[in-house]
Amino acid sequence: MQDKINKIKQEAEREISEVKDGKQIQDLKVKYLGKKSEFNQILKGLKDLSVEEKKVIGPLANSTKNEIKELLEEKETELENAVDAEKEWIDVTAPGKRIKPGKLHPLTLVQNQIEDIFTTMGFEIADGPEVDTEFYNFDAINMPDDHPGRDMQDTFWISREEERKKGTGTVLRTQTSGVQVRYMKEHKPPLRIIVPGRVFRNEATDASHEHTFHQFEALVAGPDISVANFLYIAETFFTQFFGEKMKVRLRPSYFPFVEPGFEFDISCTNCGGKGCSACQQVGWLEVGGCGMVHQNVFEAAGYERGKYQGFAWGFGLERLAMMKYKINDIRLFHSGDVRFTEQF
Ligand SMILES: [Zn+2]
Repeated sequence: MQDKINKIKQEAEREISEVKDGKQIQDLKVKYLGKKSEFNQILKGLKDLSVEEKKVIGPLANSTKNEIKELLEEKETELENAVDAEKEWIDVTAPGKRIKPGKLHPLTLVQNQIEDIFTTMGFEIADGPEVDTEFYNFDAINMPDDHPGRDMQDTFWISREEERKKGTGTVLRTQTSGVQVRYMKEHKPPLRIIVPGRVFRNEATDASHEHTFHQFEALVAGPDISVANFLYIAETFFTQFFGEKMKVRLRPSYFPFVEPGFEFDISCTNCGGKGCSACQQVGWLEVGGCGMVHQNVFEAAGYERGKYQGFAWGFGLERLAMMKYKINDIRLFHSGDVRFTEQF
């Protein structure tokens, strides 16, 4: 009986030392400590042994069983630790995870390029508040309270009805033209500025309309500025901006802050003026409005009436970006979708 117990012990020790995973441990637990194990049979059979035998075999069987139990537990802990170590192991020689570099938004790219072109031509960059007073947004640019021009724009009003009635209201600016007057109050001609900035219109959005978009305003003022100066600067700008020879044309139009006023077209960036579906076969693309600064605007800035002449324009940055990069939906600019911005 003693031999049998020792043999089981040796066998168990050998098998435990060869264990590779938790499954084998469980199997050995059943084999050596389970109800149907040889040990259990021996312990069960103790009652049939003589008193002398019981005294020897009983303690031996129990201590051996405990030894095997301890060996199994030791092995189990050892295996668990091994697994943890594998999980925590760091390969310091592995190449790092690639971090995608950030990209400039297409509107930022376009604005940077516009600013570069104009500053080389001697223009200054002016800035103004996005929440502006009724005075600068409307009155100062020749759109008094009863002016029908106010109906041409859907405005986000910040102030209450009573303030609006008193003419002291504030608005999310509907154009950047108010900055012209702010700038002219501080500076005397000759002056050349561009005003890139965000503007707001209370209107429904679709592929070509947004409630929030960007304009860049240009203003040139001096004693003898004419439409010819404007055409030259505009052609130079668009030729540099699109990297190919561009033609511009003016069509008479009406804007309250200019007299005369024009709609401004450039030769189609898609077909070069031959006519295609992008330009509805006319060879021209509409870009924005422009004209000679109204003397009322100069007066609002504190200039003597008739002393200076100037021209101004207001173009949409999004529209120019859409032409340059052939983007067909203005809503993409504010979508926050990196799949869009990554392409530029
Ligand atoms: Zn075309």
